[in-house]
Amino acid sequence: MYTLHKIKSIFYITILFLTLSCTAQTEQPNILLILCDDLGYADVGFNGSKDIITPNMDKLAKNGIIFTSAYNAHSFCGPSRAGLITGRYPHEFGTPFNLHSNSSEKNEDNMGVPLKETYISNVLQNAGYYTSALGKWHLGAAPKFHPNQRGFDNFYGFLGGGHNYFPNQYRKTYLQQLQAGKKEIRDYILPLEHNNKEVKETEYITDALSREAVNDIKIAAAKKQPFFMYLAYNAPHVPLEAKEEDKKIFSSIKDKDRKTYAAMVYAVDRGVGKIVNALKETKQLENTLIVFFSDNGGNFDHGASNYPLKGTKGDAWEGGYRTPMFFHWPNKIKSGQQFDHPVSTLDLYPTFANIAKAKIPEGKKLSGKNIIPYLDKDNPPHKDDLIFCMRYRHGYADVGARQGDWKITRMGNEPWRLVNITNDIGEKKNLSGKYPEKLNKMVSEMKKKTENFIEPLWYYSAKDEELWNDGRMPQFNETFEVSKLISKPTKN
Ligand code: CA
Repeated sequence: MYTLHKIKSIFYITILFLTLSCTAQTEQPNILLILCDDLGYADVGFNGSKDIITPNMDKLAKNGIIFTSAYNAHSFCGPSRAGLITGRYPHEFGTPFNLHSNSSEKNEDNMGVPLKETYISNVLQNAGYYTSALGKWHLGAAPKFHPNQRGFDNFYGFLGGGHNYFPNQYRKTYLQQLQAGKKEIRDYILPLEHNNKEVKETEYITDALSREAVNDIKIAAAKKQPFFMYLAYNAPHVPLEAKEEDKKIFSSIKDKDRKTYAAMVYAVDRGVGKIVNALKETKQLENTLIVFFSDNGGNFDHGASNYPLKGTKGDAWEGGYRTPMFFHWPNKIKSGQQFDHPVSTLDLYPTFANIAKAKIPEGKKLSGKNIIPYLDKDNPPHKDDLIFCMRYRHGYADVGARQGDWKITRMGNEPWRLVNITNDIGEKKNLSGKYPEKLNKMVSEMKKKTENFIEPLWYYSAKDEELWNDGRMPQFNETFEVSKLISKPTKN
């Protein structure tokens, strides 16, 4: 016979259990986005690196999903990040070029991603998330483009396109230039900031960003708020600067640049290890989606390797914009999986909004889709969609576009190429002569995409602006005529 006491206990335990189940169902997961800068396709253990070791990342990747065909919206920093954070191709809102690398942009209030673009940080902040951006920004340096104005509660890092790594070295130069009254001090040596306040950082920058990430994870846990962290390491972007102790680990690498680069990636991995520990300590690892990738391909002039992909940072070849990527989310997505269907970093915005049960503003255009429902079933999220990269060059454009197993590419003034990218990852065998109809169809579909592209808000040079105004750039008509070579404008 049950006593009254026992019945009461069972009743309370049942109520507790139901409450916990309900909480688990409605709980918003944390979202941790770890971005590297110019990291090559083959430069992490989980993607086949032979010489760079990344044990912490490999462990996460092995217990998560490795994406072998993850693409960025562009093949270099600024436009790629603009795509990621808005969920749209940057050509559609006028930011297909990098911002210029100098501090004068602080006063240029038209140089940044337009305010009408709602960032994923805005969407998640409105959904109750504690949001933080750490590291490189590169989306506008004027006050109105500042991370704190674009949906981030917390910002620790730098606004420009890169940074030197050793504060005790660059600070000396910075102070000298400041005292000498130099007007434009290069943004790579400016002091870091924390929510608009200058800070005197002392650690190696990669370690400093990892330290801030760990702090923020603890802050979010104490607040009992879900968090969205955009951890944008500038490593292993130039300048190639690594700690001696990390370089020693790679003493077998003979090439000096490769050795330093490897040590820089290793420092990121050390940070990832600390972050995972902080998530475990605060009991948040299970409830955190960790996404890792790079903003564009590796630069093989600066120690990176994109093997077996063709090309380098900035190219419309695969090496320019296909990067290593994994998701880690225990019990929510299948672990130990490799996902070979193409995905885009433009998918992250709708994916995050969906898992956070956040509201995307009405009328907001998005280029990607929530990919979570496709993962466990191994279905292609982009069966018929084109995933592309288009880079405006000086009077013409480089274009690469993938659709399922196929890819079309136009580089420079060379004719269009068609490859079966699933069978030919190195883009070696041009099949355009064998399948001309396929080529024509994909080229015309790509041309249709450009109907949404608008005039850039800024250019690299006055000459490019002039070419655009003359209708000679990006020369959509010539670019998308399969049989035509483009007549390049003369330089002067
Ligand atoms: Ca980059």
